[in-house]
Amino acid sequence: MSEAGPEERLRKRRDDVVRRLAHVSSEIDGLRTDRGAESADDEHDPEGVTLSAEWSRLEGLREAAERELLEIDAALARSASGAYGVCVSCGRPIPAARLEARPDATRCVACATASGR
Ligand SMILES: [Zn+2]
Repeated sequence: MSEAGPEERLRKRRDDVVRRLAHVSSEIDGLRTDRGAESADDEHDPEGVTLSAEWSRLEGLREAAERELLEIDAALARSASGAYGVCVSCGRPIPAARLEARPDATRCVACATASGR
């Protein structure tokens, strides 16, 4: 029992992403509340600009986390079907070092580079 298997790493990572997503969502909710409270005159409110910037930043974080979650779920599904760690492009095994760095990787380094990921 020295090393965590890929599935365990994926689940751990999934927990992290779920936590991050919950955190970002609650910040977005907080921002929505702030915004609602001062919606009367936000064109002349210097804070309106800051809030919009913060809003886009949080939305960006949330989208990234959601995307990551989908990738992790897809990797877990592949793991369940025995296809985990096999490059979806060329069918060769993905090197362990790469899976270590990116447990949700779907392509080997060569194919990922070729496809821009
Ligand atoms: Zn490949």
